[in-house]
Amino acid sequence: MTLENTAADPVLDALTQRRPLTWWRADLGSAAEVIAGSGIDEHLVDDAEARFARFAPWFASHYPETADRGGIIESELVRADRAQAEIDGLGVTLAGTLLLKRDDSLPVSGSVKARGGFHEVLEFAEEVAARAGLPIDDWQTYDSPEFLELAKSHRVVVGSTGNLGLSIGILSAALGFAVDVHMSVDARAWKKDLLRERGATVIEHEGPFDEAVAAGRASAESDPSTHFVDDEDSRSLFAGYAVAARRLRAQLDAAGIVVDTEHRLVVSLPCGVGGGPGGVTYGLKQEFGDAVHCVFVEPVEVPAVTLGVRTGKHSDICVQDIGLSGRTAADGLAVARPSRFVGERIGGLIDGFATVDDDVMRAGVSLLSRTEGIAVEPSATAGLTVPWRVALGVQAGQLPAELGSSTTTHLVWLTGGSMVPEEEMAQYLREGAGLADAFTTDAALLT
Ligand SMILES: *Cc1c(COP(=O)(O)O)cnc(C)c1O
Repeated sequence: MTLENTAADPVLDALTQRRPLTWWRADLGSAAEVIAGSGIDEHLVDDAEARFARFAPWFASHYPETADRGGIIESELVRADRAQAEIDGLGVTLAGTLLLKRDDSLPVSGSVKARGGFHEVLEFAEEVAARAGLPIDDWQTYDSPEFLELAKSHRVVVGSTGNLGLSIGILSAALGFAVDVHMSVDARAWKKDLLRERGATVIEHEGPFDEAVAAGRASAESDPSTHFVDDEDSRSLFAGYAVAARRLRAQLDAAGIVVDTEHRLVVSLPCGVGGGPGGVTYGLKQEFGDAVHCVFVEPVEVPAVTLGVRTGKHSDICVQDIGLSGRTAADGLAVARPSRFVGERIGGLIDGFATVDDDVMRAGVSLLSRTEGIAVEPSATAGLTVPWRVALGVQAGQLPAELGSSTTTHLVWLTGGSMVPEEEMAQYLREGAGLADAFTTDAALLT
């Protein structure tokens, strides 16, 4: 499809021109109303949380690194004072506190996909066990000869730019399932190698994400023993991501951090197809209502969800329709067409959209390593400048003062990195160091 007259809309104009922007939506309805009108089953997140709890002893037994949390797959929440001071040095001082959510080091698969991806595989494992009359709430079911024999004749299929394939492939293989991972052209070679080592079948595609997903979907059609994980349209992935919010509340409580109308929480979430940030946002709005503000961040060449929501066309439009390439160094975010349900169902919960240059993300990798000793992949740094964009907006009188208060907590969600091989990480760090001058918090603020 084509769009007429994008120049008449300042957001579409900036997207088309690849100009970094922050689109802040001041006119959202209340979170409670949007959630009630979303049509999403109100028990979805409770069910997912309970499922993770049922499998916790299985994880603790199979992955010793998860034992200290009793087999719950969770990441640290940390302050980032040195990174904050460094970015303050660019000009604007952040009045509030900068926190990082360390999903880059989630156990077992090293990215935010361990939330959604694992949840969907576990749900399928329970389905297979239940159909055979095995007790689904006893974790030892999944180590039993009966289940393992059954698993061999069931297949999990997924299309991915890398990290979802890694999560689905690693866990499916560990549970004894056959697993096919359709990788888009963006996927890094090491992710494919690692999956093959674990026993997954990797199918490489020359084309982009939607092509890999379509190929996976077609291969799974009409086979009752095969489960297709549809990253473009999955409630199960969404539910797994959403559980993060409850765990975050407990972590904030433990750190003595209050979230209410006088103490706002601004959360920046790297966005690909929208399922991950969408699920987390849904969970956060359930927990904190209108006191939390969620911003989705996409590369300037791949602002799929921003475009879908701004035009109201959702998955009926892709970034190539406005002349963008869809290519980015942030391989985890290389998704040109948005999720089929995130924008439509919960678009009204998303407070802001931001786009960011590849060089800023790549420089961000080096900045985080230098200041905090944290090594992440480029996609994970997408949200790093958002707190300062918000602070600038408050200073200019364009955004509400409560977002720029000393009581505001800015949380930047780091989404992937701990599985990146040493040599590849060294390369990211060298590139990032060379781009240090490109790191900027400048972006047009549109409301
Ligand atoms: C997948 C991914 C995201 C975004 O998740 P979507 O569900 O695709 O929006 C962000 N960061 C990293 C590193 C990812 O792998």
